[in-house]
Amino acid sequence: MAEQDSEHRGPAEFAEAWKARLAALLAQETVEVSGWSDIAIAELDTDLGWSLYAAASRARAETIARATATPSRHRGRDDGPTPSYEFSIAADGDGSLGRVHYAICEPCSVGLLKKISFSPEWHCCGFGTLALRELETRHPALTWYTTGQYTHARGFYERYRHGSDSPWTAQQHPCPHF
Ligand SMILES: [Zn+2]
Repeated sequence: MAEQDSEHRGPAEFAEAWKARLAALLAQETVEVSGWSDIAIAELDTDLGWSLYAAASRARAETIARATATPSRHRGRDDGPTPSYEFSIAADGDGSLGRVHYAICEPCSVGLLKKISFSPEWHCCGFGTLALRELETRHPALTWYTTGQYTHARGFYERYRHGSDSPWTAQQHPCPHF
């Protein structure tokens, strides 16, 4: 997972890397498991290893294909003219894969994307794009901006903004209410 976080692989490349890792493990004669003596890898284990790989790959692909956004939920109770909301990207309604926090200012028609967070195993699966499209669809009249904290994700935002029909501004204080 740590490697995936730094490598930014898409789903197909991630699957390839995972397969190569498993093949290398199964090619060993023995395997060390802490607390156990050396375990010899038998044909049966290799078959089981690949069956598990296939099952996990399928489950992952289905999760990616079925992921949808949950309804927006109001977060703060007394946040004046700039109410905060959040929604999740979830598969089959259970288990959040990641979250989006944002706030809107109706008088100025401005939306602030506060944070998008996905755990490393769900990076590069298209969920960031899904989340931002959803945000724009829910609030089509707003001009969006985000703060400068996303240095590592800047490339993603820049690419996204170019392909988006909603206006995004690089301005850091587009309205006085935030
Ligand atoms: Zn405002």
